[in-house]
Amino acid sequence: MSPVAERLPAELQHPETLAAQAGGYLDPLTGAPVPPIQPATTFARAPDHGPPPCGDYLRTNSPSWAPAEALLARLEGGSEALLFASGMAAVAAAVTALRPGDHIVLQEALYYGVRGWIRRFCDDWGLGLSLVDASDLTALEQALRPGQTKLVWIETPGNPLWRVVDIAAAAGLAHAAGARLAVDNTVATPVLTRPLALGADLVMHSATKYLNGHGDVLAGVLVTATQDDFWARIRANRDQTGGVLGPFEAWLLLRGLRTLPLRVRRQCETAATLALRLKGHPAIEAVLYPGLPDHPGHAVADRQMAGGFGGMLSLLVQGGEATAIEVVKACRLFLPATSLGGVESLIEHRATVEGPDSPVPRNLLRLSVGLEHPEDLADDLEQALRAAG
Ligand SMILES: *Cc1c(COP(=O)(O)O)cnc(C)c1O
Repeated sequence: MSPVAERLPAELQHPETLAAQAGGYLDPLTGAPVPPIQPATTFARAPDHGPPPCGDYLRTNSPSWAPAEALLARLEGGSEALLFASGMAAVAAAVTALRPGDHIVLQEALYYGVRGWIRRFCDDWGLGLSLVDASDLTALEQALRPGQTKLVWIETPGNPLWRVVDIAAAAGLAHAAGARLAVDNTVATPVLTRPLALGADLVMHSATKYLNGHGDVLAGVLVTATQDDFWARIRANRDQTGGVLGPFEAWLLLRGLRTLPLRVRRQCETAATLALRLKGHPAIEAVLYPGLPDHPGHAVADRQMAGGFGGMLSLLVQGGEATAIEVVKACRLFLPATSLGGVESLIEHRATVEGPDSPVPRNLLRLSVGLEHPEDLADDLEQALRAAG
């Protein structure tokens, strides 16, 4: 039994409506439009010894997950969503549903934590792995091994260069080779892109970022197009290995999700304003933002991102690494911190965060645009560029 009422008409699709109404949640006992937090780890059987209505043990089922999972499945247009303790726990549950001997095609330029772990896992456990620039569809096609490739994993726009992958084309190529397409949709969010509608099989999020949006929850989610065998293995991985989300975190995540569309749209507008303001600035070598017409992924982004190009951009600073770090130190509003998708703006020297093996240009600064006034943010960056230059 799910505590989520099927209250909202099935044809409703606008993310603003789905999120504001928490997917139609109403507490069945009280009529409250806000769910209770149920911290219990165990649940009693019925008098006839039948199973408890929402599962018998917290590792395999929590009534506190259901509202956020139902809303996320609906926002992504999927069949079912599963919450995890972190984005990486979600990645691990999906990748470990493969078997030794299987082959993965992984986009080269994406969140370094995903690349690093998948590389190590494939090495240690005997899976094949090919890294490829998936924004180049010919390269993607050549990397596929029909029959052996079981998973193609992409992130678009991809960290931290914001390369754009054509999801529909990638899904077509993956399926022709007998593989599934998984999309890390953390940066685009379902407000801008719905990968399942474009043919992807699996969507993953670090819900730590835009979905929660307030920098106070670590969480992950997977959403599937269909509840097939692969999904059953993913669910078993979560149940048995226990990378599950705590009830308090699930509650906070739902609270954050209710304002997701509003936050993301504002963050897109401000990011676009900053990208235009900084493009051509004498202290900047290049602005990387898919919303700029000269960005190599602009045409595809324009097609598959509805209503904005995201709240993330990167700057290549004139003068190299040392100047870039001086810019970070000179910012007064942008916090010198990693992560993304929160209400406060963040700036980071990405190569420092990723370490000595990072392929990221040494003069790259990654910006996560928050909800401050765009003029205040532009002024902050301009004064920091002056101070560092
Ligand atoms: C942060 C992040 C992850 C990892 O998620 P965690 O919640 O930190 O485990 C994966 N992909 C992207 C794009 C991210 O930004």
